[in-house]
Amino acid sequence: MRGGTVVTVDAGDRILEADVAVRDGRIVAIGARLDMAATRVLDARDAVVIPGLVNAHMHETLDRGVFEDLPFTTWLYDFALPKDRAYEPRHMRAAALLNQAEMIAGGTTSAIDIFRHPHVAAEVAQRSGMRMTFSPQVVDDPVGPGETLATNIAFVDEWHGRSPLIRAWFGPHGLCSTLPATYERMRELASAAGVGIHTHLAESRDEVTAIAERTGGLTPTQYLDRLVGLGPDVVAAHCVELTDADVQQLAGSGTGVAHNPTSNAKLGNGVARIVDLLAAGAVVGLGTDSNMTNNNLDMFEEMRMAALVQKQATRDPAVLPSASVLRMATIGSATVLGLVHEVGSIELGKRADLAIVDLRRAHTHPLIRSGRGNVVEHLVWSCSAADVRHTVVDGRVLMEDRQLLTIDLDEALDAADHEAEHLLRSAGVFTKRFGGTDA
Ligand SMILES: [Zn+2]
Repeated sequence: MRGGTVVTVDAGDRILEADVAVRDGRIVAIGARLDMAATRVLDARDAVVIPGLVNAHMHETLDRGVFEDLPFTTWLYDFALPKDRAYEPRHMRAAALLNQAEMIAGGTTSAIDIFRHPHVAAEVAQRSGMRMTFSPQVVDDPVGPGETLATNIAFVDEWHGRSPLIRAWFGPHGLCSTLPATYERMRELASAAGVGIHTHLAESRDEVTAIAERTGGLTPTQYLDRLVGLGPDVVAAHCVELTDADVQQLAGSGTGVAHNPTSNAKLGNGVARIVDLLAAGAVVGLGTDSNMTNNNLDMFEEMRMAALVQKQATRDPAVLPSASVLRMATIGSATVLGLVHEVGSIELGKRADLAIVDLRRAHTHPLIRSGRGNVVEHLVWSCSAADVRHTVVDGRVLMEDRQLLTIDLDEALDAADHEAEHLLRSAGVFTKRFGGTDA
């Protein structure tokens, strides 16, 4: 990467005018006008080189823009559950192609997916070159719309340790939809295999009420701790409804908190206590949630949303400054996912997961280059996924000059349209939603 501004997101938050050299997938040199020969040079002039963005909670779905503006129970029982029941591997293949194409195009180099048919999504990831973690979404109640403990175990058996960029985890959906015994069994298996557990936690007030009734007054955080034992190998998404004690418990245990501000807003679930969690020392990363509740996987937009909602909710414009937000989307998410020893910052020896973001845009000027400059501010407040010029994962170029190199974008788009309609028709919800006749 020649001639860029490098935002390292390292311990010193250094910003350098420098080249970055990569060999065998690792960052081997960072410095001005490096005197090194390269077999391939990516142009980073008028651009900023950042650690690849890490999406700490998402579902690879085909559900974008198909069930908008419905009352919650109509949405859930008449559309969402029948649709999730109808997912077949063919739909999941199209979903993974579409979601991974979008993430690579937006500078996201790594993500954790919690959804269906993970073996199909993992095969797509082997082709796309993304660094992915798959946690099959296990739903016990109601039966049918998710993966099961048995399919999750089979997936971990088949995929754990099989491919250097792909990890297989456990994915209990949530405390209201996954049985306590399933959580407990997953904890035994996850500890034995050395893999993580990814779940939704304290997402809504309804969840708080239901768990309190079921447990005689426990909070969702206390109940999850009782079932699996909170710790660094647990990733908890949303974490909106937390007591002061819950904040301390999540922070003290090193549990990974995945913040999903857009999804929380769209579902009317309120604002997570991110300022309090960070003050308590919690490990916090950023995720988009699915294309149903966001509706894109743009981590730049998610950074801006994270900053906006904290400032609005606390009525304090000084909270969650730009550098903290960028950390959340990079090294924060990498820590949440247990990948911080490999990625999340631009440092010698780390794997080369990088995004090169164009700054030669009207919306990234004025550009100040003296002192600390204002590059980080532009990344958080002005940039979008469409500004990413190149994306690199593990030293492999997945997008160059906005051209995807590992996924055929036309194939992904056509498959998404075709398979989404097939999915919705086989779920029996297509005509109900869009009119016309049943094909
Ligand atoms: Zn989710």
